[in-house]
Amino acid sequence: MIIIKSKAELEIMRMAGRIVAGAHALVARSIRVGITTMELNRLVEEYIYSHNAIPSFKGYNGFPASICTSINEQVIHGIPGPIPLKNGDIISVDIGVMYNGYHGDAARTYPVGDVHPRAQRLIEVTEEAFFAGLKYARPGCRLFDISHAIGDYVEKNGYSVVKAFVGHGIGQNMHEDPQIPNYGPPGKGVRLRPGMTLAIEPMINEGTDQVVILDDGWTVVTQDGSLSAHFEHTIAITDGEPIILTEEA
Ligand code: MG
Repeated sequence: MIIIKSKAELEIMRMAGRIVAGAHALVARSIRVGITTMELNRLVEEYIYSHNAIPSFKGYNGFPASICTSINEQVIHGIPGPIPLKNGDIISVDIGVMYNGYHGDAARTYPVGDVHPRAQRLIEVTEEAFFAGLKYARPGCRLFDISHAIGDYVEKNGYSVVKAFVGHGIGQNMHEDPQIPNYGPPGKGVRLRPGMTLAIEPMINEGTDQVVILDDGWTVVTQDGSLSAHFEHTIAITDGEPIILTEEA
């Protein structure tokens, strides 16, 4: 069942989203060669608590950290650790925040130092794929119009969309209905209505779409070791243009 949010609820979700955006801005300022993902995790955790919010991911199904940090061939759900970032790495950082009982969730892939133009292009196409999908995040469209636009954009650019993991509705729960695949037939799925809040999150691989979960039980990697990128915002459907909730003011 998809939960429609009131104006008052959307305002709280906008506040949660601003904290997520601020945390990402902090990550963007902090990423450099030699910093560890544990250190990034500590910085973001402090930022979230100092804004009277709670990191949504910490303890979620036993996840041991406040952010997910997924480097290079890691797709999602990477666990922060003591290994320093290297020049040329790309790192996907996923941040979830609960504020006043409502969640915000956003992810971005950041370059570390000087990255190969191929890696930079993958990051850009992933972000562009999100915005290709966002055009359909409005009344009169159906859910898989978003999915189709994302998948189509990615494949036209020669990359593959991860199928094993999908975006999601979000609100008082981090994961609510509907599931939002990053591929699918246009014109299908539920009709979009004002007050729906969705975390749309293309996960894009340079090579195969197939993924494997590492022995830590969390880290998802590409099966062929190729690079992967992630881009996510929490958005709200309105009468007109969608609102990106996880953006700075
Ligand atoms: Mg998400």
